[in-house]
Amino acid sequence: MAHSYDDQNIFAKILRGDIPNDTVLETEHTLAFRDIQPQAPLHVLVIPKGPYVCFDHFAQEASDAEIVDYVRAVGEVCRMEGLEEDGWRLISNAGAHGVQEVPHLHVHVLAGRRLGRMLQ
Ligand code: 5GP
Repeated sequence: MAHSYDDQNIFAKILRGDIPNDTVLETEHTLAFRDIQPQAPLHVLVIPKGPYVCFDHFAQEASDAEIVDYVRAVGEVCRMEGLEEDGWRLISNAGAHGVQEVPHLHVHVLAGRRLGRMLQ
């Protein structure tokens, strides 16, 4: 998959502070905020602050510090939102077949109700 990063994508604008967001967690390398169109009672997006399009891009080019920070932040969001008991789902869409709308790596954290076997 080609990894050219479009710095005009909506999450880049959120990271620059050009568009407001409902922040759940911010760390050195990661931002987590509520999805504008929630698909579940809890729907948080977790993004690295660096310019990565998808997981493959991130895995290839991010530093170990960014990767550790990001993975820990996803877990921290689940803990902070009290999801341990009832569970959650993580989704990361990539590219055309993954139907990725925003070309900046993000993990969707979905929870708060029993989810269907597949989202789409
Ligand atoms: P994708 O389809 O790329 O995996 O998901 C992109 C997600 O970003 C969608 O769930 C969509 O609702 C969310 N989204 C798009 N624009 C905005 C925005 O301006 N603010 C927030 N908080 N979420 C957005």
